[in-house]
Amino acid sequence: MRSYEKSKQAFSEAIDLMPGGVNSPVRAFKSVNMSSIFMESGQGAIIRDIDGNEYIDYVLSWGPLILGHTHPEVVAAISEQAAKGASFGAPTLSENKLAKLVMERLPSIEMIRFVSSGTEATMSALRLARGYTGRDKILKFEGSYHGHGDSLLIKAGSGVATLGLPDSPGVPADVAKNTLTVAYNDLESAKLVFEKFGNELAAVILEPVAGNMGVVPPQPGFLEGLRELTTAHGTLLIFDEVMTGFRVDYGCAQSYYGITPDLTCLGKVIGGGLPVGAFGGKREIMEQIAPAGPIYQAGTLSGNPLAMTAGYETLVRLNKESYDYFRKLGDQLEEGFRVAATKYNIPHTVNRAGSMIGFFFTNEEVINFETAKTSDLQLFAEYFKLMAEEGIFLPPSQFEGMFISTAHTEEHIAKTVDAFHKVFARLAR
Ligand code: PLP
Repeated sequence: MRSYEKSKQAFSEAIDLMPGGVNSPVRAFKSVNMSSIFMESGQGAIIRDIDGNEYIDYVLSWGPLILGHTHPEVVAAISEQAAKGASFGAPTLSENKLAKLVMERLPSIEMIRFVSSGTEATMSALRLARGYTGRDKILKFEGSYHGHGDSLLIKAGSGVATLGLPDSPGVPADVAKNTLTVAYNDLESAKLVFEKFGNELAAVILEPVAGNMGVVPPQPGFLEGLRELTTAHGTLLIFDEVMTGFRVDYGCAQSYYGITPDLTCLGKVIGGGLPVGAFGGKREIMEQIAPAGPIYQAGTLSGNPLAMTAGYETLVRLNKESYDYFRKLGDQLEEGFRVAATKYNIPHTVNRAGSMIGFFFTNEEVINFETAKTSDLQLFAEYFKLMAEEGIFLPPSQFEGMFISTAHTEEHIAKTVDAFHKVFARLAR
């Protein structure tokens, strides 16, 4: 048995210091009935906790670390920038450099604005959509998470789903009334919303692959249908690619599925592990942002040179072959999971988009939040704990996906598949 003594002590101290002992809810490991594991260091695909336990990491800081931990060239570039200065509050060349690289890979982004988190990106994109269209209502999908901005914290996924919380207190009813929701992949219901409110809708915002109710890819026709509906009604289509951006494919989910949104939100990978977000899209729309236009948006640390450097040095190391590699490892992991789960009669469904992988403990097809919730959460909690014992670090929630980095190898995957067999043998039905 691994010892988590130091983590347990650190968590009991943290409980008095921070609400729930953490600075972001899912880190509290509540849904898996465990005390948080405190991490100390990481290298490549491996992380080590403060008790000295090592794990193959499939969380990767919830997505950003697509090259694995402490990539030597990324670390060197960040250190070099830190020695020059951490922040100036004036433009730096690092912003132009990352902007050009992102726009080269995402032609739908003709102009970009960097912010410091995914939440800021989606909040700002919504303000822009509302200011640009002169409309207040938006449509989002149940179980999708777009950060914790008031308008978007309605029927949200991620931590809200993990903790089984209703919509958050503190969101004014007057704000919430402008957020309409339907089930993910339910184009017919979206059409009904458009029939009734089409001319009042500023934007439809969605994760082109939902990643905050577990992983749920779009069904054929869903994204196409939303593109048609939004175009027909003068509503902006916003792809929240904070998670899928440069994770699902070289040109993000929009190139993978061949749909061009009006605005895109980014985060995670484009910051290489430092705090970053961005939103961008058609020039005509983006030019409405201050100081080019009247819609206000700002940030003391926006475009921070350390974060821009980490993002650039990460992104530039990904090429088309990286995504073939992710798919190859993803195939190996998926196949290994299926074989082990079948052998031990564990109910299961696997959803995947590139290196975003979601395992559910249900035999139902998972196409939206309702079906995601059919997963056996008690079984998931047991699985999480036993996998940690085997040295595999998974997201401590059924409603989050697993990620792979370029630092993961076939050997790491083979070890993980061995762990599936050991763990499922203990959980056998
Ligand atoms: N949008 C999506 C799709 C996300 O997955 C997340 C975070 O997980 C966010 C927005 C919010 O990003 P951040 O946590 O950087 O505020």
